[in-house]
Amino acid sequence: MGESNQQWPDAWSVAEREAVLLASYAMHSVNSRGRVYPELPHPYRGPFQRDRDRIVHCSAYRRLSGKTQVFMGELGDYHRTRLTHTQEVASVARTLARTLRLNEDLTEALALAHDLGHPPFGHAGEETLHVCLAQQGGFNHNQHGVMLLTELEQRYPGFPGLNPTYEVLDSQRRRASKDRSHPGLLEAQVVDAADSIAYDTHDADDALELGLLPLAELIEISLWKEAATRIRARWSNLEQRELERAVVHELVDWLVSDLLENTRRALAQAGLRHADEVEKHPRLVSPSETVAQQKRELEAFMYARVYRHDDVLQSRRQATARLQAMFEAACQRPERLPAFYRQRAEQCGVAKAVVDWMASLTDRGALLAYDELCRSSDT
Ligand code: MG
Repeated sequence: MGESNQQWPDAWSVAEREAVLLASYAMHSVNSRGRVYPELPHPYRGPFQRDRDRIVHCSAYRRLSGKTQVFMGELGDYHRTRLTHTQEVASVARTLARTLRLNEDLTEALALAHDLGHPPFGHAGEETLHVCLAQQGGFNHNQHGVMLLTELEQRYPGFPGLNPTYEVLDSQRRRASKDRSHPGLLEAQVVDAADSIAYDTHDADDALELGLLPLAELIEISLWKEAATRIRARWSNLEQRELERAVVHELVDWLVSDLLENTRRALAQAGLRHADEVEKHPRLVSPSETVAQQKRELEAFMYARVYRHDDVLQSRRQATARLQAMFEAACQRPERLPAFYRQRAEQCGVAKAVVDWMASLTDRGALLAYDELCRSSDT
């Protein structure tokens, strides 16, 4: 049962507010299936507000500020970190949720949690940890996110992890599942869509600013060409950087509007009356087929020209070599792990505990640990 407000009679209860504002197929707080470790209701915060607040106050969330999104720190200081990407996803997701009359608190909680499990150094970090743990099933940032929420965060005396609601935990578990044909609640689908809009638009913005990509090439891609035509029709005398930034804003607005229109149509056709019915449908929050095709074209271009750029690959190779050396050194000397992970090594084995510890580190934390572990193991 949902957590409800009994102690502040003059305020609207969460249930009253949501009954007025949310669509029938949104996830209403009053219908939450609760938490693994039952808790008393909060006097004025709803269950998904509490989830959101717990995520914002946890250490894994703070450490996102020091973790690579795509471009590593040595390339410059304009580009997104894992934390600013997360905030941009939350911003887009809230707009989508509010317009579709979905639960904004739940959407925000899911958006802020969606990348919590990423290790340092972006995808290079994830791939390296996956290889390190090959014998034990590998490493996946979404699965690691589930472990942070349920076990690894240690902030509350009454339970391990953050004890999130069933809805937050189930949505994160579905992200970790190989079968993505049942993405779950509409609020979770909104976060997937917002993530995709955020990285499609902002990775190109970062790549232009970092000088990894000339505008002349990007503007041949249909999404960019069409958005640039609209901007030039409105402002004819923009300098290149002004044009680039205006196109990025135009793209976010266009992709969000297209997604909303297409999703509204799909929701009207589906005729849902309750959040439980979402499960029976394939993904309902999605862009139009035209825009989906244009997004795929942009993503293929970005993969070939930016994610495989020499400068990006060189940073990745260096990160991979250091993380591998760190893993081996830490496995040989587990007594040097922080106390929490030494204890964890006794429960789940040294390799797993070392990877959990490494995944927790920021890029800078990993470099410091590398210096300390690998330098001292040489002597
Ligand atoms: Mg993301």
